[in-house]
Amino acid sequence: MTILLLGADGQVGWELRRALAPLGPVLALTRDKARNPGGLAGNLEDLDGLRETVAVVVPEWIVNAAAYTAVDKAESDRERAQVVNADAPGLLGDLAAQHGAWLVHYSTDYVFDGSGTTPWREDDATGPLGIYGATKLAGEDAIRASGCKHLNFRTSWVYAARGGNFAKTMLRLAAERDSLNVVEDQVGAPTGAELIADVTAHTMRIAAKAQSGTYNLAAADFTDWASYARFAISEARDLGFATRATPETVRGIPSTAYPTPAARPLNSRLDTGKLQAAFGLTLPDWRIGVRRMIAEHVACG
Ligand code: NDP
Repeated sequence: MTILLLGADGQVGWELRRALAPLGPVLALTRDKARNPGGLAGNLEDLDGLRETVAVVVPEWIVNAAAYTAVDKAESDRERAQVVNADAPGLLGDLAAQHGAWLVHYSTDYVFDGSGTTPWREDDATGPLGIYGATKLAGEDAIRASGCKHLNFRTSWVYAARGGNFAKTMLRLAAERDSLNVVEDQVGAPTGAELIADVTAHTMRIAAKAQSGTYNLAAADFTDWASYARFAISEARDLGFATRATPETVRGIPSTAYPTPAARPLNSRLDTGKLQAAFGLTLPDWRIGVRRMIAEHVACG
């Protein structure tokens, strides 16, 4: 199968380069034409360029890992977020439908309003709190309207070993300070880009037309940001990483004490039963991936 991968330098895109390789040739494109094979367009703001890329490559799978992910910035940059998160995915859906190709796309727990404590199911009522969530939902809707075969994975709290992430930031701050204040009323599942990419490859290998649709994809069990920070610090200290702050000196604070331009959902729990049943998967506890990432981080200094 020929695979066109967009957003290949993002957290998930980078891991997809690795995970998709055994499935067939992967044409990995970034936003920057000059760095892409054949100078092909991979910028989601260049809709004509995307049309041309798909016409040239004629992929059997389009995997879109590109997105406007700056949640707070989106509040004052709605037009661009709309093009990248909604218009371009809609176009990719239309192109996939025309070519009989599959489209893999990623969405977010931010399509929900974060009320209650029950894990969200795929068919629960949506209610985004901000522009990012609203444009991601519009992207999902456009893909569904295109009629293409698709796998739309809603995920949450994504981290990757490459580049910065929440746990690494907490370790840096814990090394500098005696105590940390971290939000503790938002609950979700930290989910590794590695896991997302590996699950994507598994589903792509066996996906049948009847399985086209939306699936929640997140690691198992839930936590809050303060407990996540405590876990990261505890794991790192066990591996010999020196910190001044300890798990005991991480203080939980409410979201209201840490105002941001875009409101975050308090309940980001995703029910992943549908994905696990449809594709015969067992999603691992979030601690497994975070523990591995911290061990790599500590080992690499
Ligand atoms: P990243 O921000 O790590 O990567 C997004 C990638 O998209 C970047 O490489 C970025 O390129 C690229 N991109 C942005 N704008 C454009 C554009 N106009 N044209 C082409 N590429 C562009 O995101 P993740 O890997 O974490 O996210 C993957 C998916 O998961 C996204 O759909 C996201 O909405 C979703 N998701 C992410 C969550 C998270 O916590 N990160 C949580 C829930 C869902 P550049 O580096 O040049 O900016």
